[in-house]
This record gives sequence, C-alpha cells and structure tokens, in this order.
Amino acid sequence: MNRLVALAVVATSLLAAGTASAYCRTAVCGEEVGKVCDPPQPTDCGTPIFWSTTCVGFSVQRDASAEVSLDDARALTAQAFGAWSQAACDGGTPSVTAEDLGPVSCDQQEFDPEARNANLIVFRDESWPYGRGALALTTVTYSLDSGEIRDADIELNSDNAAFTIGDSGVNVDLLSILTHETGHFLGLAHTPVADATMQTDYPPKSTTLRTLEADDVDAICAVYPPDRVGTCDSEPVNGLGDECGEAADGSGDSCDCRTAGGSAGSPAWLCVFGLAFAYRRRRSLLTK
Ligand SMILES: [Zn+2]
Repeated sequence: MNRLVALAVVATSLLAAGTASAYCRTAVCGEEVGKVCDPPQPTDCGTPIFWSTTCVGFSVQRDASAEVSLDDARALTAQAFGAWSQAACDGGTPSVTAEDLGPVSCDQQEFDPEARNANLIVFRDESWPYGRGALALTTVTYSLDSGEIRDADIELNSDNAAFTIGDSGVNVDLLSILTHETGHFLGLAHTPVADATMQTDYPPKSTTLRTLEADDVDAICAVYPPDRVGTCDSEPVNGLGDECGEAADGSGDSCDCRTAGGSAGSPAWLCVFGLAFAYRRRRSLLTK
C-alpha cells in the first residue's frame, strides 16, 4: 500500500462562552488539521474541506444499538442532515443533500481507495476506543491537495453514553448529537459561538442543538451556496460496499481505484482526522 494516512484526533477543549467570532470550517493545513473561520482568526490555516457533489450518501450500520432501533437511527440521521440541507440561505437552500443508501454490515471506521466504501453511522455499544468523555467521533477523509472530502464516518459512544430519543426524559439527545456530527461530516469545524449547533461541547440533557442557529446557517450556506454547480452523485468512492473492504467489481473498477488512490503522484494524497464531541462538563455526568 502506497497511501500514507495521517491520523490526528482533535480533542475538544472548553472555550469561553459568547466569544464574538463566528463559524469555522475544517481545513487542510499542510498535513495537519486546520480551521478557517469567518471572520478570519489569527489561527486560520489551510484550504477548507468540502463535498464536491450536491448529494452525499450515508448508511447506518444495520445492528444499530440495543438502545436505538435501526429505523429510529435512520430516521434521526436523515432528520439531522435535513436540518443542514433545509437551512435558509440567501437565494434558496444549501446545495447539498444527504441520501440514505440503506443499512450496511460493515462496522469499521475506514476508507479504502481501492475498495467499495460506505459513509457510516455506527453505534459503539460495547467498546469505545477514544476516551470516555467523547460522545461521538466523526472521521473525515479528504484530499490533501484540494480539500475534497472522499469519505466520512460517524461513531456514537453508546458504550458510555445513554442516548435518548424524543422530547421527554432527555439524557444525551441523539438527534442533537447527530445534527452536530453531520455538521462535521459536511466539513464544518467547531465554532466559538455559544449555543450554536457546532459549539464545542454538548450541554447535558438538552435538545437545543437539534436546530441551527444563525452562525450554523451562515456556515453551511457559505460552504454550499444555493447556486453552486455540482453533480448529484451520492455513491461512495468505488460504490457502496455492504461488507468492510468489499472489492470493487471488475478490472475496470480496480483501475479507477488506483487512479483515485494515487492521483498526482502524491504519497500523501489523503488525510484522515477525527473530531470528538464531549459533554460540557465531562466526567461528572457520564452515565453507563
Ligand atoms: Zn464536534
């Protein structure tokens, strides 16, 4: 394998509430993960990441969770993406929509430029490898050259967090978490603006992040303006795979895969990173 993949897990940190600056996009900063904000911040670095297509596909892992059914997980994921794709921009709605491509068997966070793929939504009921404080982690794979996103996977920490659905008895509101994580999936970074969906931490037992604030709307409209030109192709790279690492069909497709994995002769064509989402006050509120 020639591809070099850099992995950086970006831990969340607490920022002062009410900081008077606005949304940020995740960016390719050399081989590091950067941010580019509007208005610009001294720490800005790199080329923002984005989906070039106007449609993106997602697949919920078919086992879902002991606490959340597959049907509920699919419906809530669609609703979370819908919050972004139905935002009110000047001149229409954002030029990106998400399609449920159906459940898959693969339960691994991965991207393989030589195989079929899935943009996965997966619960971790039994083993969470990223630290107990993180409620979820979205990992995005993108081109180091262009910032174009190739794959995104959302992992949910159902091992340590008791996710709830609906409006009563809220503990960790799954729809709030999914709305935040789908923001990362679409290329957004954390914002210092308090109460925005893309704020750094989840306010315990709240449902407020289900709905976008002005800062979130500004962000998604800037990345995917209504008049953006693009094709609607929701297929993952090399097509949707049900099993992990499922081979792409035929020699023609293999050829395409190699092209996709090694274009421009750059050994660092792809970068993978994860963004964790934590409780506002970490350890005291964890429930098992
Ligand atoms: Zn986050």
